Amino acid sequence: MARVKEEKPCIQDYTREELSGLIKPAFRAKQVYSWLYHKYVNSFQEMKNLPKALQEELASQYRIEPLTLAKKEQSKDGSIKYLFELHDGNTVEAVLLLMKKKQFNEDGSVKQQEKYTVCISCQVGCKVGCAFCLTAKSGFIANLTAGEIVEQIRYIKKDNDIDANRRLNIVYMGMGEPLDNLVPVAQSSRVFADPDGMAIAPHRQTISTSGLSTKITKLGKLGLGVNLAISLHAVDDELREQLMPINKAYNIQSIIDAVKDFPVNDRKRVMFEYLVIKDVNDSMDAAKKLLSLLNGIKSKVNLIYFNPYGGTEFKRPEEKDMKAFQEYLTHHGLHCTIRESKGLDISAACGQLRDNELEKEV
Ligand code: SAH
Ligand code: SF4
Repeated sequence: MARVKEEKPCIQDYTREELSGLIKPAFRAKQVYSWLYHKYVNSFQEMKNLPKALQEELASQYRIEPLTLAKKEQSKDGSIKYLFELHDGNTVEAVLLLMKKKQFNEDGSVKQQEKYTVCISCQVGCKVGCAFCLTAKSGFIANLTAGEIVEQIRYIKKDNDIDANRRLNIVYMGMGEPLDNLVPVAQSSRVFADPDGMAIAPHRQTISTSGLSTKITKLGKLGLGVNLAISLHAVDDELREQLMPINKAYNIQSIIDAVKDFPVNDRKRVMFEYLVIKDVNDSMDAAKKLLSLLNGIKSKVNLIYFNPYGGTEFKRPEEKDMKAFQEYLTHHGLHCTIRESKGLDISAACGQLRDNELEKEV
């Protein structure tokens, strides 16, 4: 569906700093931000501490664009998958992942604290066309605006009554390739980070990319302070080209070179995601090559179980092969985790909820 140009700009596209330059007097921008990102209102009339005249002026100049819920699925493990309809009828997914974190009370007793991570989308569809990815199957449809990216978090925080001051993590791992829509993605990251808004610090945000090397360099130069995740998935160019055609333009070495120059937060590491597919990339030989490839990089590896869907020839790997792969890397000093399969009962991998819905439509 082609995107229609709106006549009024969307207020969620702006950082508070930008709004301070646009709204007079400037301190009102902070109040607007608080109404949007702490109290989650959807109209200027509800911004009670603004003078009526300013409410009307803002309403005549800007629109607040909420997302519409098209579908919501709750998993047994507590994860919630959202399918959102954008203003123009296109749909995108976001997932709220819940993890219990062990914490200790002052008396030493254990208290469980919920840890939130939200996975958000940045495009409708994707141009990259990875062979294993459902999002790729619909091709590229549209870029999201910064406001539409921001709105996914605003909606989910409100929907789950997550306290305004409650920290959560954001991963740009939903539908789309973030570095192929870099300007809105970077802008959304600034909006998330604003201390007067949602205050989600850059080190709590992770941008995941299929490896557009030149854009990795560009992202680094923007100095946002976000974490970087690379979807590597293969250790030699031949296989990677088959799985991810983008590798013809940006090969593995070009990605490694760009990562080496990327500014990484002192306490952080670049995450290399490795989607494990049975009999395709799960051999010990691959584990060995991965180890040598990452030599000298402050990195960690996240192994992901391939999540099958109807019509794919790829298979989920055996647990024992996953474990052996992980053990090899860990044994040789590389941080390596296996991604918990959250929400498996609710079409977990991104693109799958949307795909189920589209199938019902035809
Ligand atoms: N385009 C970006 C971010 C979105 S994809 C990127 O590729 O990094 C987010 C992650 O979902 C990627 O690591 C991708 O490999 C993974 N993914 C795609 N299809 C999957 C599937 N069927 N099962 C499990 N993970 C999948
Ligand atoms: Fe696009 Fe990422 Fe899916 Fe590849 S894995 S097609 S880059 S969304």
